[in-house]
Amino acid sequence: MIVESSPARTRELVREHRRGGQHIAVVPTMGALHAGHVSLIEAAREECDCVVATIFVNPTQFAPGEDFEKYPRTLEDDLARCEAAGADLVFTPQTSAMYADDAQTTVVVSELTKVLEGAHRPSHFDGVTTVVAKLFHITEPDRAYFGQKDFQQQLIIRQMVGDLDFGLQIVTCPIIREPDGLAMSSRNRYLSASQRRQSLALHQALTRADELAREGASAGDIQQEMRQILGTAPGVKPDYAVVVDATTLLEPAGDQKTVVALVAARVGDTRLIDNQILQLR
Ligand code: AMP
Repeated sequence: MIVESSPARTRELVREHRRGGQHIAVVPTMGALHAGHVSLIEAAREECDCVVATIFVNPTQFAPGEDFEKYPRTLEDDLARCEAAGADLVFTPQTSAMYADDAQTTVVVSELTKVLEGAHRPSHFDGVTTVVAKLFHITEPDRAYFGQKDFQQQLIIRQMVGDLDFGLQIVTCPIIREPDGLAMSSRNRYLSASQRRQSLALHQALTRADELAREGASAGDIQQEMRQILGTAPGVKPDYAVVVDATTLLEPAGDQKTVVALVAARVGDTRLIDNQILQLR
């Protein structure tokens, strides 16, 4: 496995693989890798010849006052996980190599970014789409792997890739959870033992949502029940709990069967998100 921090050399290394007729996969991450990230690298390994993982804590997707400075940086451990999962190349750029002082360009997806995470974290997705566009230009992949954990993010990136003719395929991989149901996240390590227990409310709300959907409940009733569960859970401050159209993130039409339940909440200072696709009856 090669570790490379230069964008130009990374592009050249990937192009060598492509000249050999290989299919290229990219797995963008911010490091602090866990089994969720590993599952993406493993999926890429299964489906492509050359697997590029990227590790970059992207400053432009954090707002002032968010956790950019304290975001966990565990490069040595991350590289060991990348190697074990079968990555061929890990791109680990410095911030100065990604953002020139005189840079002027931002990639903005206009509509999908207005709701949910976008409403609570203004400019977050502009940072995400801009850095992901740059990572796509540097690694020139055939496929890019993202987690369903960040449901809105993968939708926004799909939109960008279509709108801007990136000509690559986005693959969305299932959410990997701890044995008790908490969705794995690099931010889980911020939680104290009692907050860790309290954070299970997110998964409980989604499990109940799934149960209700199977029993034939409406999107509105499911949403109300999730709000009730999160709103009364000790130590949990919900930001949102919604059941929406899984492609537009807007209120589902009356006859819609496939929807997504999305939740976001603060447990102490830690902001957690989770989601579940629901089949309405
Ligand atoms: P991050 O390092 O948090 O930016 O995440 C990098 C990629 O890993 C994103 O595509 C995430 O959606 C994905 N990811 C994060 N957590 C999980 C998880 N628990 N299961 C599956 N994928 C995940």
